[in-house]
Amino acid sequence: MPAKPVVKRLPARKGLFAGFKGNVDAITIGLKYLVDPKRFTLIYPNEYIKLDPGYRGFIVLDPKKCIHCSSCARICPAAAMRMIKRMEEDPKTGKPKMKLWPVINYQRCIFCGYCVDVCPTEALYTVPYHDIVYENMAEMDWSLETFVKPPEHPTAKEGIPVKYIVDEEKGLVKVRAEEVEEK
Ligand code: SF4
Ligand code: SF4
Repeated sequence: MPAKPVVKRLPARKGLFAGFKGNVDAITIGLKYLVDPKRFTLIYPNEYIKLDPGYRGFIVLDPKKCIHCSSCARICPAAAMRMIKRMEEDPKTGKPKMKLWPVINYQRCIFCGYCVDVCPTEALYTVPYHDIVYENMAEMDWSLETFVKPPEHPTAKEGIPVKYIVDEEKGLVKVRAEEVEEK
């Protein structure tokens, strides 16, 4: 016979002000960290986290390296990368020739990086940020013209780059990126 499940109940709060005390405790902790100069809340977009090289951010295409092999579109598990047809002048014959080019739909991309890894010519590369804001979904479906330019990173223009590090005494602390990069 299977063992009877044991149901544990939390003790009921007693007293009129038991719940009130919990709220006061939570507000007190919040106020303490509000005035603590060492708090590590990211003041975005006045500050932004500077990510390390190799971070899988937005993917960009270098058209000079692309050999139109379609490997990136074939491997994409989210159907975010697809190939489009373009008529272009063949430099050898001067006649129009159809070429396949990859484009990416960031509504679907899961930033797995498979397309970058599989590309035989390193025509795809990542930029170390992905906090880009779009006004509508259609803007996230990039054209070839958009795909060949690194996206603008507005917070990097005006914001302060910061990093989070573990300090043995204070725990997790926020510092200016240059402070840890200089070491
Ligand atoms: S990163 Fe992954 S999901 Fe995004 S386009 Fe490349 S293969 Fe597809
Ligand atoms: S895998 Fe690389 S070379 Fe092949 S189509 Fe994609 S970007 Fe171009």
